Amino acid sequence: MTMPPRQSIIEHKQWGRIIITRNPRARRIIMRVRPDAIMMTVPEYAKDTDIERALTECGARLKTRQQQSQEQIIDKDFSIDTEYLRLAIKESAVSRMRLIGSGNGYVIEVPQNTDFTSADTQQMLRTAIKGAAKHCAARVLPQRLKELAERTGFKYKRCTVRDVSSRWGSCSTSGTISLNIRLVMLPSRLVDYVLLHELCHTVEMNHSDRFWALMDKVTAPAKARALRAELKKNRMLF
Ligand SMILES: [Zn+2]
Repeated sequence: MTMPPRQSIIEHKQWGRIIITRNPRARRIIMRVRPDAIMMTVPEYAKDTDIERALTECGARLKTRQQQSQEQIIDKDFSIDTEYLRLAIKESAVSRMRLIGSGNGYVIEVPQNTDFTSADTQQMLRTAIKGAAKHCAARVLPQRLKELAERTGFKYKRCTVRDVSSRWGSCSTSGTISLNIRLVMLPSRLVDYVLLHELCHTVEMNHSDRFWALMDKVTAPAKARALRAELKKNRMLF
């Protein structure tokens, strides 16, 4: 008869809360993160020293990921203020949350005394913010792509603006460039970087030296890698 997995919780001096599951079927130590803890699944008879060694190896990386997973709470002071998208939240005499768009940006109106800690409210706010980003992105990104294509001489077939949470942009072999609605939440220099990156893929479908040479040419004076590093610091919200 095999024993069911056993769980124990430790408060580690360096790595915070760790939830250890001893599983007779585990062959090696597997770690993942939750916003409030590092989860470890370990073989039934793993020693404390094995666990400690695994933490020494992976703890820092897991901690970074954990910080990223602690979602940002959206409250009434939340705002987005980039060259493309301006959005604010305003308490007003409405009975339900609503998104208003004007030439000047977007306002999410919420009822007075809204409980911002409620999960439902957070979900509705995220939906409204994405709605604003989608509306804004569809208006500005295809136009900007066209301008950059004309300036650089790259040819693409079609531009789509999509709600995907995995990447900022992509370029298909058939020449369709897909752009993420969340791009409008970034500074315009990074938006241009992503658009130019996808335009360069219409010529070089890879990330070879030739690709980066093209990128350096269109982001003169050769800023492609610096912009890429800056983009990497921006994680996708929502
Ligand atoms: Zn690429």
